[in-house]
Amino acid sequence: MSDNYERLVRTCYLEILQREPDELGLNHYVKQLNIGNISSLQLSEIFKDSIEYKHEPKNFLQNELKSTISKIPILNYHEISDQNNPWCVSSNAFLKQMKFLKDQNYKTISLTELKKIVNNHGDVDEKLIVITFDDGCDGVYSNAYPILKNNNFTATIYVIPKWIENIGTSFEGQFSTYMSWKKLKELSEHGFDIGSHTFSHKWLITLENNELKKELDLGDEYIKDNLGLDVKHFCYPYGSFTEQIQKIVVDRYDTAVSTIRNFSKITGAYSRQRIMRFTSLDEFKKILTIPED
Ligand SMILES: [Zn+2]
Repeated sequence: MSDNYERLVRTCYLEILQREPDELGLNHYVKQLNIGNISSLQLSEIFKDSIEYKHEPKNFLQNELKSTISKIPILNYHEISDQNNPWCVSSNAFLKQMKFLKDQNYKTISLTELKKIVNNHGDVDEKLIVITFDDGCDGVYSNAYPILKNNNFTATIYVIPKWIENIGTSFEGQFSTYMSWKKLKELSEHGFDIGSHTFSHKWLITLENNELKKELDLGDEYIKDNLGLDVKHFCYPYGSFTEQIQKIVVDRYDTAVSTIRNFSKITGAYSRQRIMRFTSLDEFKKILTIPED
């Protein structure tokens, strides 16, 4: 079974668990999981490394549910600018989205705080949310930061040192420039987290082990040298990873986010809710909560 397929199955599985938390029981879910012709044999294959699963499938799944699902959304933005590009949310739309969060009494938390809540299986009374920006685009500083500051919100920004240093261009360069270390330093001093999006944003699944290590090492070193920070948070370029890459990432960083869209918080691959230019305010409101259907 391929890693991608396995991840898909896990995600579907957790989605189902999430929607019907009162009916936990292996057979029940195996039955429902017939979506990809997944047999109970294949399912046990997926979880075969887990001793807990072998001995107590039901308890294992209950714990898996508690440890990986959190209703706290992680928003995934790229650029905030008025460029007509699907990845660029307009300043006006961003303003309205943040106003909505403020009016609804949402409070932003860091990924470190979120991890604590997930690990403690914590129930929270407050409305909490994590805001993330991929790629370190300049509009995050010039357009998003003033709005975030006004609302007392902070965010995590995943940067690509090679792009900051302007070594070579990228397709994203067509609609963005990237924040300087100076701007990132200012954000970091105002409570923003700066995470690694690797040194040069390559498809990680195409890399040999030594190349992968270099991408991670250089990413961390540049951030450390320029901002004086130990890198705690990671974001997979293009959402590309395998179980093996995920293990390496989990050993190195406190949290890692994926491009998978839902609420599961699988260690080393937290899912997020992606906000694009075409996301309407109504859609934005909807994706803050678990879908009903
Ligand atoms: Zn990216």
